Amino acid sequence: MPELPEVETIRRHLAPRLEGRRLEALAVHDPRWCLPLTPDALAGACGGRRVERLDRRGKYLVMAFEDDVFLLMHLRMTGTLLFEPAVDEPYRRVTFGLDDAHELAFCDPRRFGTGELALGPEALTAFFAARLGIEPLGGALTGPVLRALATGRRGPIKAFLLDQRHVAGVGNIYADEALHRAGVHPLRPAGSLRPGQYAALAEAVAAALQAGLDAGGATIDDFRHPDGVSGAFQHEFLVHRRRGEACGTCGTTIVKFVAGGRGTYACERCQPRPRVR
Ligand SMILES: [Zn+2]
Repeated sequence: MPELPEVETIRRHLAPRLEGRRLEALAVHDPRWCLPLTPDALAGACGGRRVERLDRRGKYLVMAFEDDVFLLMHLRMTGTLLFEPAVDEPYRRVTFGLDDAHELAFCDPRRFGTGELALGPEALTAFFAARLGIEPLGGALTGPVLRALATGRRGPIKAFLLDQRHVAGVGNIYADEALHRAGVHPLRPAGSLRPGQYAALAEAVAAALQAGLDAGGATIDDFRHPDGVSGAFQHEFLVHRRRGEACGTCGTTIVKFVAGGRGTYACERCQPRPRVR
């Protein structure tokens, strides 16, 4: 599933190609993409409008049109946005026709991706306020902030990090990588870390996401850049998907287990397992 670095990589590729262009045609081929709106209603709201910006919030891409019309896209499991896709590109769910004759397609084999509409800045703010917590790049995520969010929570810290209402944009890859960098076991109760560990984790989340961004995201499953190129961060994973391999820090074998309902990877020497009370 694309996480913050993958979505931000897409945004950076597409923003210069979309900003200032007029959306001449919006064809939703799969009506499930924009439920409960109909394809006609969505095309009516966005069609003919100029794209002012392509923004990102958490794992959402936000196409900001003139007159404060916002199209909020989520790639979910396998969604990708391709610029100038092949005519026979499979799994095409939406086609955006631009006024410079270029085309953008939302392709999505498993069809979990979505497109939603917000009309006006208040609707946009309310949409994200209900769904997303802190944006982890840019300095807002600090040890004290993380500690305040986690206080009293007994669920595993991994599940806490995956909950978008706490920290926006972190998914399975970057949660594993950040917890390893911070030396925190994924099964530690979220509220049980020492102050220094919250600080280390806040820093590690930002560092893992930044490393992913610098590598153009990670390509596992179906993630591709809008020009079809793959990301490279999967070659730099410290623990994720490395079961049975040696930890780069201490040489201990990396293990896999379930935390927060997800396949999770850790070095249990660098990240000591909590004792069962
Ligand atoms: Zn280790």
